[in-house]
Amino acid sequence: MAIPVDGRGGGASPAGPERRPSEFTPARRLLRRLVEIMALPIMWQERLDRLVGLVASDLVAEVCSVYARRPGDILELFSSQGLNLTAVHLTRLRVGEGLVGQVALDGEVVNVSDAKQDPRFAYRPETGEEAYSSLLGAPIVRDGQIIGVVVVQNQAKRVYAEDEVEALQIVATLLAEVLASNPDLSRERISAPASPIRLEGVRLSDGAAIAEALPHRTGIKVTRVVADDPEVEVRRLDKAIASLRASVDAMLALPEIDTGEQREVLEAYRMFARDAGWLRRMREVIQTGLSAEAAVKQVQDQTRLRMAHLTDDYLRERLLDLVDLADRLLLILTGGMSPAQAEDLPESFIVIARSLGPAELLDFDRKRLAGIVLEEGSPTAHVTILARALGIPMLGRVESALVHVERGDLIALDGQNGLVYVRPSEDVEQAMRLSLDARAARKRAFAGLRHEPSVTRDGVSIRLMLNAAFLIDIDHLEAVNADGIGLYRTELGFMVRDRYPDVHEQEKTYAAVMDAANGKPVTFRTLDVGSDKLLPYWKVPREENPAMGWRAIRLSLDRPAMLRDQLRALVRAAAGRPLRIMFPMIAEVAELDAALAVLDRELDRTRKAGLPVPEPLQVGAMLEVPALYWQLPALLKRVDFISVGSNDLGQFLFACDRGNPELIGRYDALSPAFLTFLRDLVLRCRTAGVELSLCGEMASRPLEAMTLIGLGFRNLSLMPGDFDAVKAVVRSVTCGGLASYLDRLYELPVHSLRASLREYGMDHGVYLNASSIPLP
Ligand code: PEP
Ligand code: MG
Repeated sequence: MAIPVDGRGGGASPAGPERRPSEFTPARRLLRRLVEIMALPIMWQERLDRLVGLVASDLVAEVCSVYARRPGDILELFSSQGLNLTAVHLTRLRVGEGLVGQVALDGEVVNVSDAKQDPRFAYRPETGEEAYSSLLGAPIVRDGQIIGVVVVQNQAKRVYAEDEVEALQIVATLLAEVLASNPDLSRERISAPASPIRLEGVRLSDGAAIAEALPHRTGIKVTRVVADDPEVEVRRLDKAIASLRASVDAMLALPEIDTGEQREVLEAYRMFARDAGWLRRMREVIQTGLSAEAAVKQVQDQTRLRMAHLTDDYLRERLLDLVDLADRLLLILTGGMSPAQAEDLPESFIVIARSLGPAELLDFDRKRLAGIVLEEGSPTAHVTILARALGIPMLGRVESALVHVERGDLIALDGQNGLVYVRPSEDVEQAMRLSLDARAARKRAFAGLRHEPSVTRDGVSIRLMLNAAFLIDIDHLEAVNADGIGLYRTELGFMVRDRYPDVHEQEKTYAAVMDAANGKPVTFRTLDVGSDKLLPYWKVPREENPAMGWRAIRLSLDRPAMLRDQLRALVRAAAGRPLRIMFPMIAEVAELDAALAVLDRELDRTRKAGLPVPEPLQVGAMLEVPALYWQLPALLKRVDFISVGSNDLGQFLFACDRGNPELIGRYDALSPAFLTFLRDLVLRCRTAGVELSLCGEMASRPLEAMTLIGLGFRNLSLMPGDFDAVKAVVRSVTCGGLASYLDRLYELPVHSLRASLREYGMDHGVYLNASSIPLP
C-alpha cells in the first residue's frame, strides 16, 4: 500500500529522478560544513549564528533567520543573518501569524516570490525586512513537534528551486538538534508541576486503574546525522528493515496472539512494514546525505506532521502505524532498547505516551500494564482495538499528558469518565480504590445478567444483537448470549487484505461466519467502502468531501461487478440457509431497486445452476441518509427490515463530520430533533409491520439505549464490550413509563435532553452505570 508520507503524494524524488547514490549533492556538501560547525567548541548562540550565516551564504540568500518556539505558542527570532540584529530576541510572532507563523502552524514549507503581497504577511518594522520579497520557510521539527522555523529571504522576486527547498529542510533537521540542546528552551518544554492535577480525555477502552506512571517518550536520539556514503546507509536501512519484518513476524507467532482480532491488526501492521512508498522515501532522504537513522527520523517527523492535518481517521491511523514502525526501526539502527523492555519497570504501571503503536503495546508485559493514557489516540486506531481486546483501560486525547507527568507519579485512571488524576490526593486515591473494588464486583454482577432474558420490567422483549466485522467476533455471540449479528461490516475484511478477495474467498469467509453463528441470524452489510474506509489495493480519486462522496452503495452500483461478486458469494455461502442482506447508505429507493436487481440476477443464476437459494432471504436498507425518510412508503414495501446507522444519520442530519475531533459533543443524539426523527420512524415501521433496528454506536451507550427503548426500538445491535451494560438497562427499564415521559420532551427547544433523561433513569432505578446495579 502506498501511503504518501510527506504530503507530496509520493511524487518524484526530491533528490531528482536519476541521481546516482554516490553523487555528491549540494545539500550533502552544505550538511558536511554545517556538521563541522556543530563540532566546534563554541557557545550555543555563536554556534547558531554561525550556522545561520553559512546557510545564508550557501543558499545565496540575503537573509537567513531562525525562530524558536516558546511557551504560549510564541515564535521568537533567535538568530539572523541579514535582518537588523537588534531584532534578535526581540521580534516575536504568534504561531499562525505571518508567513513564519504559518509554517509553524501547518508544519509545511512556505515558498513565495513576493511575501509582502501575500495576505498572510505580518510586517515587523524592527527587522528591516521590507527590503526583501521572496521568502522560503521550513519547519524545525523534533519528536513530531514544531519547535521552530528557519527562513531565507531575497530581495529579488523568485520562487526557490526544489533543491533549495530540500537543502533548507535538511538544515532544519540539524537545527532541531541545536534548538533541543539549548537548556532554557528544553526546560520550557518540560516543566512538570508537582501538585495533584486532573486531566481530561476521551474514553478509548473502558476500565479503571491505579498505578505508577511510566512516561513513554520515544524521541530516540539520533546522534549520527550525516553520513559519507549513501550506499552504505541504504544497506544499513535495508538490513534494519529486514530485521524489523522478522520481529513483526515473531510477534505474530506469540502464543498470546490467539484471537483473530489481534491477529488481523498485526497482519495489517506487517503489511505496513512492507509499504513501498515509505521505504522509497527513506531511501531518497539518505541520498541527500543523512545517515539511515536520521533519514528514518526525518520521514517519521513528516509523517507525524501530516497526521496532525488529516481529517481522515482511517488514513491518520494507518500513518500512526508507520510512526510506530519508524520507532522500531530507529531502535534497531541505533542499537537502542525499547522502553518496554527496561529491567527496572514497576510492578504495575500506566503508560503515558503521545501515541502508541500496536506492536509497542504488545512489547509491554501485559501483567504489569494497568492502563494507557495517550495525548493522541483515536477510537478506531489499531492500538485501541488491541487495548479493548486485551481489556486494558485507555484514554486518548489527554492534552499535554507527558508534560504533567513524571516517572513514578501515582496515576488514577478513570476510563468510564475520561479522567486521569495525576498524583491524586489521598482522598481521591482512596475513593478510586474503593470504586475499583466495587467495579470489579459489579462487573461480575453484570456478567451474571447474561443468561437472564432480555426483557424490560414491563415484559417487553428487546432483541440485543452484536456488531461484528471479523470471523472472530462471532465468538462473542455465545460469550455474551446475544440474539444474533445485527450488523456484519463486510468491508473490514476487505480492508485488512492486500488484494481484492475473489468470489470464492468471500464465499468461504461468509460461510464460516454463518457456521460460527450456529443458526443465529447474521445481517451482512454489503461493502461500505469509501469515505474513511479505503481499500489499500484500490485507488480511488481524492475527494474534497469523502463522507458525502463516492462510497458505499454509490460505489457498488457504479462497480456492479464488485456488488455482483459479493452478492453471489453471500447467496452461495448461505447454501439454502436463511440469509439477511443489508445495503448501506441508501439515499433513494431507486438505488435499492438497482441493488435488488443485481441480487435477483444472482438468485436466478443460482437456481439455474441447480444450487439452493437462501431460505428465507431477507433484505434490508440502512437508514443513514435523511432523504430516504421521505420515501418510506415505497421503501417499506420493498424491504424486510430497516436498520438505522445512527453514526452517519447523525452526521447528515446535523451536517456535522462524525470524524472531526473538534466537533465531538457539538450536537447530541439525545436532542429533540434526532429523537423526534427516530420516534416518527418507529411509528411508521410499526404501522407497516416492518422490522426496525439501530446498529450505530448510539445503541452501545446505556443512556442512549434506554432512550431508544423508550422510543419504541425493539432491536438494537451493539459492540460486544458494551453488551452487558446495555442488557442491564433493558432489564431495569419500564418501557411504558419512559415512552410517556419522552412524549413530554420532543417539543422542547433545547440543545440536549441528556440531563433530563439521565435524571429520569436515576429516579426510576435504571442501571445506567455499573454503580447503579445492585450487588447480589
Ligand atoms: C452507522 O453509520 O451508524 C453505521 C452503523 O455504519 P458505519 O459506522 O459502518 O458507517
Ligand atoms: Mg454508516
